[in-house]
Amino acid sequence: MVERRKTRQIRVGDVPVGGSAPVVVQSMTSTKTRDVEATLEQINRLHRAGCEIVRVAVPHREDLEALEDVVKNSPIPVVADVHFAPSYAFLSMEKGAQGVRINPGNIGREEIVREIVEEAKAKGVAIRIGVNSGSLEGDLLEKYGYPCADALAESALRWSERFEKWGFTNYKVSIKGSDVLQNVRANLIFAERTDVPLHIGVTEAGMGRRGIVKSAVGIGVLLYMGIGDTVRVSLTEDPVVEVETAYDILRSLGLRSRGVELISCPTCGRIEVDLPKIVREVEEKLEGVDQSIRVAIMGCVVNAMGEAREADVGLACGRGFGWIFRKGVPLRKVREENMTQELLREIAELKEEGTKEE
Ligand code: SF4
Repeated sequence: MVERRKTRQIRVGDVPVGGSAPVVVQSMTSTKTRDVEATLEQINRLHRAGCEIVRVAVPHREDLEALEDVVKNSPIPVVADVHFAPSYAFLSMEKGAQGVRINPGNIGREEIVREIVEEAKAKGVAIRIGVNSGSLEGDLLEKYGYPCADALAESALRWSERFEKWGFTNYKVSIKGSDVLQNVRANLIFAERTDVPLHIGVTEAGMGRRGIVKSAVGIGVLLYMGIGDTVRVSLTEDPVVEVETAYDILRSLGLRSRGVELISCPTCGRIEVDLPKIVREVEEKLEGVDQSIRVAIMGCVVNAMGEAREADVGLACGRGFGWIFRKGVPLRKVREENMTQELLREIAELKEEGTKEE
């Protein structure tokens, strides 16, 4: 079991972050915020997929104007992503954003950052201090020569100390680079010195398999070390995939259990059925199920008994037939052509029982 780093708890709107709260899943919309309808449609899809905090970009005046409607109608807290223009941080808070993400390195002078902090304090808004290699302060670049992990961590620690000195504690920190090792090391240095909640992710991870693997490794290593209070998987994809991937990572470490965990064997020469087809069909049908269920689909009886015992529902295949299991108990023998249907029937019954128990 992963032992999580002890952090203080903060709140982004009504969502607790850090302390005893579960690792929170975040994402960011890819729509133009000024298109309120499209942005809310995407936020609602993200929410249904399990996203708990959403960030939106406010690069232009029109986006800021639209922010109020987005915040009012969003089912989850909205964080405004502010770069370069401090006035946008103030205006975002005025429009009701529950959080503001600033990158002090590109906001400018310390006094301006302090003014933003004072406003957040007065309005009960959370701040995320974002530190990344592209916007490191000049003196740190001079000291270290390039944006290495130590430089990133020092920048984050420096801003964190200032926030503490100004009496502001409702903030979290993110230190992100696109290099996995640098990312891990920088977060580790910061985590060892403070109890400030950390938002983790691998920035610009890319798309498809590469993006998912890079994110899973970068985020997974940190989570395994107990680091990370909120997570965003950054992919060049529909942001819903980011949320699904985040839950897959968290589920594989036993940190969140939302949705179906599908276990299937890799298949080998013992296989007598078209297992990939069955897995695909079941996966498709279970998309969007948010109940926590573990399903095992095994090609033969060799490993099936062990896996099926751990699973809520299982299928162990033989030649032209299979056994449906519940918690390791064989229930009935089914023909190959009915396997998917029978497995889904069993899962549906389990879901119904779960709903009744709730
Ligand atoms: S469960 Fe059976 S078919 Fe699947 S990989 Fe193992 S031995 Fe092969």
